[in-house]
Amino acid sequence: MLQNADASPAPLSSGLESMAKTELERAGFRLRFPAPLEVRYERDIAAERVKDLRFIVLWGATLYFILGVLLNLTVIPQPDWHNVAIQLVGPTVVALAIRFLWLRVGMSSAVRETALMACGLLCTVSAILVVAAKPEPATLRDFLLAIPPTAFVLVFVRLRFRQAIAFFLVNTAVYALALSSRPEIGASDEVFLIGFMGTLLMPALLGSHTFERAARRVYLHGLLDRLRNESLTARNSALADLSYTDSLTGIPNRRQLDEALALFVTDPESKGALLLVDIDMFKAFNDRYGHLAGDACLRQVAQCLLQRLQRRDLLTRFGGEEFAVLMPDAQLEEAAETAERLREAVQREPFSVQGSLVNVTISIGVAVRQGHDLNTPDALIGAADTALYAAKHAGRNRVRVAGEPALQAVGTAA
Ligand code: GH3
Ligand code: MG
Ligand code: MG
Repeated sequence: MLQNADASPAPLSSGLESMAKTELERAGFRLRFPAPLEVRYERDIAAERVKDLRFIVLWGATLYFILGVLLNLTVIPQPDWHNVAIQLVGPTVVALAIRFLWLRVGMSSAVRETALMACGLLCTVSAILVVAAKPEPATLRDFLLAIPPTAFVLVFVRLRFRQAIAFFLVNTAVYALALSSRPEIGASDEVFLIGFMGTLLMPALLGSHTFERAARRVYLHGLLDRLRNESLTARNSALADLSYTDSLTGIPNRRQLDEALALFVTDPESKGALLLVDIDMFKAFNDRYGHLAGDACLRQVAQCLLQRLQRRDLLTRFGGEEFAVLMPDAQLEEAAETAERLREAVQREPFSVQGSLVNVTISIGVAVRQGHDLNTPDALIGAADTALYAAKHAGRNRVRVAGEPALQAVGTAA
C-alpha cells in the first residue's frame, strides 16, 4: 500500500518508440539503427543469436563430416583417408571445445559469437587447405568439392551481412591462394573455379543482406509491441495509483482505507486500531482565511501527521477535514499514545497563512479492535466516530478512546 503515490503517468511514446517507427518507414540499404536502438537490438538478440549459432555450427560441422566420410566411402573411387582424418580431427576438437569448455566460461555474447564464427571459418578453410596440402596431384574435382562447406555456412548460418562479406572474402582469398599453390591446375581452370565459387556464393551473400534486413524489421515490430505494452502497463499502474490517492493532499484516499479495512477485518484474530482525526473549527478557519488557505492547511496537517507515523501505519484522507489512521497490530496503549503524539504535534506546529503563523488543533477518536466486537469496517469506523464526537463534546483538541462501558479519556487540551 502506498503512502505517497506517484501520480505522474508514464509518457506514452518513448524515444525508442519513435526511432523504431522512423526506421520502419525508412527504405534504406543500411543495416544499422541509430545508436540507442542498435544497443537495445544487440542486447535483445544476443542470447538467441549465440544459441542459433551454436546449434548450426555444431550440427553443421557434424553433418558436414558425416557427408565427407560417406562421400569418401561411396562416390570417390579411392577413399582419401588422409583427407578424412584431417577433416574429422581438427573441427571436431574445436566443436567439442566450444561445446564443453568455452561456452561454460562467463564470456560476453559478442565474444561467444566471434568464437562460434571462428569455428565455422576454421571448418571451411580447413576443407580448402586439405586440398592444398594433398600429397598427390590435385584435380579440378578436389577443388570443386572444397566449395560446398563455404556455401553451406553462407546459406544456413544466420551470419550478419558484414560477417558474411568477411567470411566470403577470407574463404575466396584462401581458395585463390590454394589454387595458385598447385601448378597442376591450369590458369583457365583457376578462372573457372574462382568464377564458379563466386557465382555459387554471391546469391547466398545477397540473401544474408535480405535476411538480416527482414530480421531487423521483425524485431522492430516486436519491439514496438513491447514498448506499447510497457507504456500501457505503466499508464495503468499510474491510473491505479491516482484512483487510490487524494488529489489535494497526495496521501491515500478513502478507497484505499476501505480496501485496507476490508482486508483487516477478514482475519478474526487480527488486532489493531483505527484513529479518526478531525480538524477543530475548520469552518471558521475557512471563513477567516479563505478556502485556498484552508486547502494549504489540510496539506500541512496531512504532512505533519504523516511524519509522525510509522511505515506500517496507513494515513488516509477520510473526507473533508477528516483523516483516518489504520494501525495494524497496535494495542490500545500504543494507539492512544500515537493519537496523543499526533494531537500535540499539530497543536505545536505553526501553519503559515497569508504571511502570519496560525495554530490549528485536532480531535481524535480511537477504536481498538482487540477486546471489542468490531468485526466489520463499519463497526470499527462507528466506534472511532463515537469516540471522536466525545472528544469534540469534551471541548475539542482531545483524544478519546472507544471503550466499554464509558469512553476513556487519555488526552486533554493543553
Ligand atoms: P468541528 O470542530 O466541530 O469539527 O468544527 P468544524 O468547523 O471543523 O466542522 P464542520 O463540519 O462544521 O466544518 C467542516 C469544514 O471543513 C467545512 C468545510 O468548508 C471544510 N472543508 C471540508 N473539505 C474542505 C476542503 O477540501 N478544503 C477546504 N478549504 N475546506 C474544506
Ligand atoms: Mg468534520
Ligand atoms: Mg472539524
